[in-house]
Amino acid sequence: QRTRGAGRWRDSSYTHPSAPFFIFSFIIPPSDMMEHGKKILMIVMDGLGDRAVKSLDYRTPLQCARKPNLDWFASNGTSGIMDVIAPGIRPGSDTSHLALLGYDPYKVYTGRGPFEAAGVGLVGKAGDVAFRCNFATVDSRFNVLDRRAGRIKEPDTTELAKALDGMNIGDIKVVVREATEHRAVLMLQGRDLSPRVSDADPHALTTVQTSRPLGPDAARTSEAVNEFVRRSYEVLNDHPVNERRASEGLLPANILLPRGAGVFPDIQPFPERYEMSASGVAGVSLIRGICRVCGLEVIEPPGCTGGMDTDMEAKTCAALKELDRKDFVLMNVKASDVTSHDGDPSRKIETIERLDGMARIIRKDMPEGTVVALMADHCTPVELGDHSGDPVPLTIYTENSIKDGTMSYDEVSCARGALGRIRGMDLMPILLDKADRAEKFGA
Ligand code: ZN
Ligand code: ZN
Repeated sequence: QRTRGAGRWRDSSYTHPSAPFFIFSFIIPPSDMMEHGKKILMIVMDGLGDRAVKSLDYRTPLQCARKPNLDWFASNGTSGIMDVIAPGIRPGSDTSHLALLGYDPYKVYTGRGPFEAAGVGLVGKAGDVAFRCNFATVDSRFNVLDRRAGRIKEPDTTELAKALDGMNIGDIKVVVREATEHRAVLMLQGRDLSPRVSDADPHALTTVQTSRPLGPDAARTSEAVNEFVRRSYEVLNDHPVNERRASEGLLPANILLPRGAGVFPDIQPFPERYEMSASGVAGVSLIRGICRVCGLEVIEPPGCTGGMDTDMEAKTCAALKELDRKDFVLMNVKASDVTSHDGDPSRKIETIERLDGMARIIRKDMPEGTVVALMADHCTPVELGDHSGDPVPLTIYTENSIKDGTMSYDEVSCARGALGRIRGMDLMPILLDKADRAEKFGA
């Protein structure tokens, strides 16, 4: 008997070496080969986990919110808590999502640059180095006068990015794209590039920094960054857009300041690695970038902004619709992290109650036999106003889940669940198993 899901392709060519079967197994498209496994819906409620909040009588916002549908999943599923990176490590949303998708962030994450670049649609090859950048205003001695060039935005930044795009620095090719507001991304393509270089952006109103190599073999890259920054000033200072801005009394965006260098990782794309077609639904550019680098198709439903005004219902429907044609869908909802950073417990509770509306739609409309995983990518305690290293609550539901007695989706109840305490990197193997897609280890 052949095993299902991951590994079937290889198995069939081994156990059925006869030519007709081999050809037959070869012409079946991968999507048909995988139709037997269950579908997986991964719901990441950003920054959802919390700590005991004094003004809530030392309960967490999840413990205080009314959320019958999230609780239904906990009551009918199997729960646990998860250290998304490792115990006590405070994850960023980028490193956490990599781990949740099964990629070791310590191996694939060198900086935020490539994921921001991919967020605006710029996906480089393994080895390309990317940076986040600000359009800024400097004087002729490179003193920064405004780190956001008077909060410049599109279409001015579109034109200025075009003026810098396609530049060559020796044999290194330069790619520049505008991002939101005063931001842009820079990608360097060429041989022997390194992400181990310091920022040119001084992060303050002082002189532009000289990028320095922070590791062996990084001098070529830091020299390219410095050359790029110098030439960005030459190109931008007299650019017609800036002449027009000056005539309107606006600050010129006469330099581009890179920071957050990172290298595009050499990773096996998610659909190939897990033999599942996959999509990501996210309003936040950085999360879209993570999905793109990992090889997920990114869906951008209208009204899906990643802010508080995000239309959660439309987004949920889009994710469910996507699940009709894909094996795996990741959906990130940012609103819970936004209210957590704001530090307002009552607004976080309101957000959780809106998330419960999302859970109601999923409960009602999910395709039969779906594996639904509810989680946060990290805790963002309202009293801290930033991410913490606490474990996050996790519930995995599918029709034949063992009900472990957990009745509520919150930090305390999930900690008593049957999944115990796992790491983010354990999640994908568990989900593949629940979906009957895991490869058997041994005979
Ligand atoms: Zn996050
Ligand atoms: Zn956050």
